[in-house]
Amino acid sequence: MGKRLPIQGEKTIVGHITVGLGKIAVALRSQAWEGGTERKLTPTQGQILAFLAERSAESVRLNDVAGALCLTAATVSDAVMTLVEKQLVKKQRSEKDQRALVLTLTAAGRREVLETRGWTEVIEAGVNSLTPDEQAVFLRGLTKVIHSLQAQGVISVARMCAGCTYFQPYVHTDTAKPHHCGLVNKPLGEGQLRLDCPDFVPGGEMELQRRWDVFVSGGEGR
Ligand code: SF4
Repeated sequence: MGKRLPIQGEKTIVGHITVGLGKIAVALRSQAWEGGTERKLTPTQGQILAFLAERSAESVRLNDVAGALCLTAATVSDAVMTLVEKQLVKKQRSEKDQRALVLTLTAAGRREVLETRGWTEVIEAGVNSLTPDEQAVFLRGLTKVIHSLQAQGVISVARMCAGCTYFQPYVHTDTAKPHHCGLVNKPLGEGQLRLDCPDFVPGGEMELQRRWDVFVSGGEGR
């Protein structure tokens, strides 16, 4: 009698995808760690530097970092203290609100980010191996998974199109670009959906749910 395939009956496709996402998370963490060894940065410190680089045009407070990276304020505070000691980050009074402290990268911090940014390249290479159609499906899938994580309270509000007041799903007949961004007044294709848009404005709860239903149904509930 032939041997039974070891995977048969053991996991559903949901299980396999969950394992796959776990492997990607491990790859990200190990590469972030590799990138930070010279300066002896922990993955958390590396994530904070990368986050401050992404938001360099905005006033970022400690709580913003904690919310975006799903870390406690105490963890971020400790990591930021170390980054300030290493002269990679500085804390200064906000120009808009003198009572608030904002975090910015120093010149050394910006250099460090450029040097350690290579860790995202391994993931980019993997994603580049997908066809444009596969990438669009993957992006839509990620949008739905992130939406669920947000609804479960595991992550803070993601600045993605699907939760934005400017997002109008399936308002165009052009199947290549069925959605619309009201801010720039332009159609959007599935592959152009943003997962972290600096212009994101959260929509009202009921309107948000209606638009989400239209988005997930592929425009059926318009
Ligand atoms: S403003 Fe940004 S998040 Fe909002 S719909 Fe336009 S592209 Fe998407």
